[in-house]
Amino acid sequence: MNEGLQRLKERVVGTFRFEYSTVRELEHKCFRVFWFVGVMIALGFIMLLSNVMAFIGIPLLILGVLLFLAILVWVLMLQREPRREAHCPYCGSKNEVFASRKEFLCDMCQGPVGVLPDGNVVPLETPEEREAKQEARERAQRLQM
Ligand SMILES: [Zn+2]
Repeated sequence: MNEGLQRLKERVVGTFRFEYSTVRELEHKCFRVFWFVGVMIALGFIMLLSNVMAFIGIPLLILGVLLFLAILVWVLMLQREPRREAHCPYCGSKNEVFASRKEFLCDMCQGPVGVLPDGNVVPLETPEEREAKQEARERAQRLQM
């Protein structure tokens, strides 16, 4: 019961927290925000077309477009941060990690990877820990179905 509540809280907080370490992660989160703004603009447009609700539609449309532009500029600024290539020590796939990060989750296998000051990477989990985690995840998935 307590554990479920904790997980719910983490999920809600996670949606609003804008954390990212790799380029792909940033793009992924941006996509979610843009999707939300896109729905807002579409709703505003529909309301504008139906004469009855135009007084809600116009502000919604303007707000949506402004929000879209603001986020676009912000993301372009975030993306200018220097990045480096890091190969995942677990699965070998290439990750583009922002230079200021000391650790990241692999885009492909979600494994936690540490970045040393010299740019080399180290696995933050032993193979046993990874296996145990994987099993726990599979068990949780089975329970959900
Ligand atoms: Zn990996």
